[in-house]
Amino acid sequence: MGIYQNLTKELSAHPGTTLVAVSKTKPVSEIEKLYDLGQRDFGENRVQELQEKQIALPSDIKWHLIGSLQKNKVKYIAPYVYLIHSCDNLELARQIHKEALKNKRTIPVLLQIRIAEEDSKQGYEFETLWSQLEKGELQSLSGLEIIGVMGMATFTDDKQQIRSEFAQLKSCFDQIKQTFFVSDLAFKEISMGMSGDYQLALEEGATMVRIGSLLFGSR
Ligand SMILES: *Cc1c(COP(=O)(O)O)cnc(C)c1O
Repeated sequence: MGIYQNLTKELSAHPGTTLVAVSKTKPVSEIEKLYDLGQRDFGENRVQELQEKQIALPSDIKWHLIGSLQKNKVKYIAPYVYLIHSCDNLELARQIHKEALKNKRTIPVLLQIRIAEEDSKQGYEFETLWSQLEKGELQSLSGLEIIGVMGMATFTDDKQQIRSEFAQLKSCFDQIKQTFFVSDLAFKEISMGMSGDYQLALEEGATMVRIGSLLFGSR
């Protein structure tokens, strides 16, 4: 699979960047092919599909939950999930905290922030998130390890718009880091960029890119 090698080579120009291979809708056999090439970080957006694949595949895979997550489903993935990219409200954060404690672990999360114009895109409004952080409401959840932010750009051909949305997410990250996590080394991740826009995302400071169709073909 030349595409994978080319992509990992391209990413090696940005040290410390993690490639999350988004395997949603793709069969276990396709994941195994990338696994055999050395890929360990995989992303899924639906809990049930993640469950089925987690059982069927090697236990050293790092499973990322990248899609919107309902509170009542957190319990299914809490024992093993490597990183939840889509924490975008306080109720969900509290639920992740509770399930983490039950499993005697901490669960790493990213705070998903809405940067796209489209109302349909998930994520915290920055002001809402900021006010929760000011009150310490998220930091007090000991089951959570907040390690950064995530965002999705508007679905558009306008590269300038996408770039400016990624820059906006980077700026949100910087402000949150400086104000609330300044001495927290773990708070360092910016998850942004997909098949169509990952190069822009890397230029704007992404530390994690979530790439599906480029690796696995269209869905
Ligand atoms: C599907 C998905 C991706 C990957 O999209 P591609 O365009 O296939 O690379 C990335 N992030 C999220 C949240 C997704 O749902």
